[in-house]
Amino acid sequence: MTLPVLTPPADVRLDARFLRELPGDPELRVFSRQVPGACWSRVAPTPVADPKLLAWSSDLAADLGLPTTPPDPDALAAVFGGNALWPGMDPYAARYGGHQFGHWAGQLGDGRAITLGELVRPTGERFELQLKGAGRTPYSRGADGRAVLRSSLREFVCSEAMHHLGVPTTRALSLVRTGDAVVRDMFYDGNPAEEPGAVVCRVAPTFLRLGNFEILGRTRDERTLVRLLDHTLAAWFPHLGPTSPSSVVAMLEQVCRATAVMVAHWMRVGFVHGVMNTDNLSILGLTVDYVPYGWLEPYEPGWTPNTTDLPGRRYAFGNQPRVAGWNLARFAEALLPVVNDVPALERALASYARTFDETHGAFMADKLGFERFCPGVDRALFTDLDETLQAAPVDMTLFYRHLADVPVGDVPDEALLAPLEPAFYQPLRGEAWERWRQWLRRWGERVRDGGLSDAARVRTMNKTNPLYVPRNYLASTVIEQVERGDVGALTSWMEALRAPYDARPGLERYAGRRPEWARNRAGCSMLSCSS
Ligand code: AMP
Ligand code: MG
Repeated sequence: MTLPVLTPPADVRLDARFLRELPGDPELRVFSRQVPGACWSRVAPTPVADPKLLAWSSDLAADLGLPTTPPDPDALAAVFGGNALWPGMDPYAARYGGHQFGHWAGQLGDGRAITLGELVRPTGERFELQLKGAGRTPYSRGADGRAVLRSSLREFVCSEAMHHLGVPTTRALSLVRTGDAVVRDMFYDGNPAEEPGAVVCRVAPTFLRLGNFEILGRTRDERTLVRLLDHTLAAWFPHLGPTSPSSVVAMLEQVCRATAVMVAHWMRVGFVHGVMNTDNLSILGLTVDYVPYGWLEPYEPGWTPNTTDLPGRRYAFGNQPRVAGWNLARFAEALLPVVNDVPALERALASYARTFDETHGAFMADKLGFERFCPGVDRALFTDLDETLQAAPVDMTLFYRHLADVPVGDVPDEALLAPLEPAFYQPLRGEAWERWRQWLRRWGERVRDGGLSDAARVRTMNKTNPLYVPRNYLASTVIEQVERGDVGALTSWMEALRAPYDARPGLERYAGRRPEWARNRAGCSMLSCSS
């Protein structure tokens, strides 16, 4: 069916460069299939019953040249819910593969994501606009192509929160409630139920993933792989020149560095992606695909938010740096048909660990209020902190945030620990207390030798250690409110998340430790992939 074409609320130019430059699927009917030799399949969103705009990201809209306050929310909901198009939109789903939980899974592709087009700014900057939950595509593999409100709201909130935290990420422009019900077995326990459906419009320069290359490399489709590399180098790495073994190795090195910086940020803010399959890693080092993600509350490197990940905890917080390196090695293998120089690929891959170590060290130094990272002295202090944080349940976000208030002078032990009290889930006692006392004394000495004035130190720490992060239990509370029709609950929370480093009176409810009731409640501590 053809969708109606509406006049956009501003002068926008939409392009379909991906379709123009890359081979596609000639089949236009929508049924699940393998699509060898193609990078995309044309597919229109499937219209929904009654699209209503629940959230609109004004600052992103401004970057896109769109109105910051929607003049006609229903007209926007029509386009961003999948019922209409703007001139120049030529919707498609991308073909990619991936390693899921460490195993090659073959062709995956956009099973419920549909790109509407690339919005081109007068500066030449490009933004891919992609609907998630917009209906079936050739890559849906028997699933419904839809998304539920709870998971769409979580994606909208977290993309925007991550951006404001300074973490490289894809963005979210809109959240539209569809008016259709979606059936999900939330706990995978044989109890499917109807839930409200929704569509998020995600935005990024490109949603290309490692998996777009892997599907071509693993199937030895060298011709299409070269075309995808031609496109990627020209569009996203133009300074590296046209496709050649050396430019592709240089690109790999850049992807490694960008991924290292992204993961170092995750470790800085306590974010756990939850499903770091290779199809969920962006070629630009942007956090992409917010599904069973979570935020560390009690500091526990072995914590994974994803119930599907429980047996192996492959995607646990503390494993993320290693897993990203593993994923990049799979990406490098996919490039072999073009590069065929294993030592060169290995050298490029080594830049991942190097960049991660440097960046992580620099972030830790900022978090702890040191002028710079001194590997010789600081590594041991970081390791001891990691162990001390596990001596008694302590909230990661609140610990770092309140560390700035701990006096570094000659004060009694009680005064040292008092500012950290709000971070502990149980009162500190015995051996744990003693460990903390010792670590804080060492930290104080390092700070005094550190070269920053107190004011400068506190400023650095408060710019690196956020106060408001999208805690799992807050998401769950806000979802319940929005499902009941209270959209204001989402708007107020987003206000806090828009300035996560600035403590503001009246927002205490967004900064508290996880309450006891949320400890083992589904959606507050663990999530299934059901979305
Ligand atoms: P994910 O683990 O969310 O990255 O998804 C892996 C693959 O499953 C991707 O190809 C998704 O597009 C696809 N997928 C997930 N949920 C659905 C759904 N409800 N309908 C169709 N495809 C889906
Ligand atoms: Mg995915």
